[in-house]
Amino acid sequence: MHTGLPTTFIRLAGCSLECSWCDTRYSRDPEAGTTMSIDELMDKAKELSLPLVCVTGGEPLEQENCIRLIEALLGEGFTIDLETNGSKDIGPVVERAPGTFLSVDVKTPSSGMSGTFLLGNLALLGKNGQLKFVVKDQKDLDFTFAFLRDHPTTTNIVITPCGNKDGALLAGPLLSKVRDLAPVQGNLKGRIRFMVQSHKVIWDEGRRGV
Ligand code: SF4
Repeated sequence: MHTGLPTTFIRLAGCSLECSWCDTRYSRDPEAGTTMSIDELMDKAKELSLPLVCVTGGEPLEQENCIRLIEALLGEGFTIDLETNGSKDIGPVVERAPGTFLSVDVKTPSSGMSGTFLLGNLALLGKNGQLKFVVKDQKDLDFTFAFLRDHPTTTNIVITPCGNKDGALLAGPLLSKVRDLAPVQGNLKGRIRFMVQSHKVIWDEGRRGV
């Protein structure tokens, strides 16, 4: 939902999933990166001086101080996007840091990680959040729309291709699927966004460090 806005990214190391198309493999190792205190991260965010901060990973909720970091950032007036892979309980974030915008993945079959989504997270997502599906092929698209049919939700839906070449091929089939949604699912049509991976437009498909 915030794509395109200048953003400070805080990438927390460590993720226990292993998506086949992970483009931040370097961040999966919990020992990767640089150890920084919350105060140091706050100073850096203030120095960069952008209103929007994205806390991502790896899987940020695998670090025990993640919510403390978000609380501190919210306290300084930053808008926070938390990107999480859907396998962790977002309840404590909603409870302790209610202003956080939550971007929660539902892993599709091509990731090799489908089935890791914690269904209890669905009820905690509303307008200040989104479900994100990364799709690589028609099978992933079918999975996404079957999931949306079986699990009604009021949150925003983001569908994004693995790479922008995949996106060029999938945009048409995706539009057909949106058109074909039954009227009873009508208000879903207005909440589905197709999002290209803007970092791969700005840099390139293979570059790390974004
Ligand atoms: S959840 Fe994210 S960081 Fe973890 S393996 Fe999948 S894509 Fe990579």
